[in-house]
Amino acid sequence: MENPKEFKKQIEKIISELNTQGLDFRLIELERHPLKQAKYYRKGRSTVEIANAINSLKAKGCNFLAQCIESVGPQTGNKKITWVYPGFSWHQWEEAADIWWFHNDKFVTDAEAIIGGIKGYELLAKTGIKYNLTSGYYWKTQDAVHLQNRKHGVKSYFEDQEVDFYMEQKYSNDLNNYLNNKKDWWTELDHSEELLNLNCIH
Ligand SMILES: [Zn+2]
Repeated sequence: MENPKEFKKQIEKIISELNTQGLDFRLIELERHPLKQAKYYRKGRSTVEIANAINSLKAKGCNFLAQCIESVGPQTGNKKITWVYPGFSWHQWEEAADIWWFHNDKFVTDAEAIIGGIKGYELLAKTGIKYNLTSGYYWKTQDAVHLQNRKHGVKSYFEDQEVDFYMEQKYSNDLNNYLNNKKDWWTELDHSEELLNLNCIH
């Protein structure tokens, strides 16, 4: 297992390096709860699509992750915003970070924007790469705000059941609390609407 604390330190260094150059980059989201990923996943998908996803996860022995998708219930929005199941985003492993660019305190939502002669998101990507991270800026389904620790997706490193096992260990208390309506700290940050124009969420 990689060390999430080290990753966070690297992200902080990158942001401070960019801030020093006069660019207002801010860390918006590092750890994203699998229940929140599940909410994102349900957006824009029909009941049938969701049932298929749940069944396919269960068939692979990923009962915890299936339960995450099931538990969050129907979500609003007609556009799909992510293709990534809960557990399969590096954000659930604390190995990915979304860093937004601000200009005059406003979130810059154009990935190719040039302000003051600087293509901010490209610079973020290049700075991330300098620190050995991987940037979503260059992906086919672009995710300009996204930096991650490893080169490839979670699936390239872990079997489906390992993902389920690890996520259950890390988050099962939260799921139980959520089901008992006790606490859902992770719902506070729902950026999906703002991200719609810029990104596919990974
Ligand atoms: Zn991200």
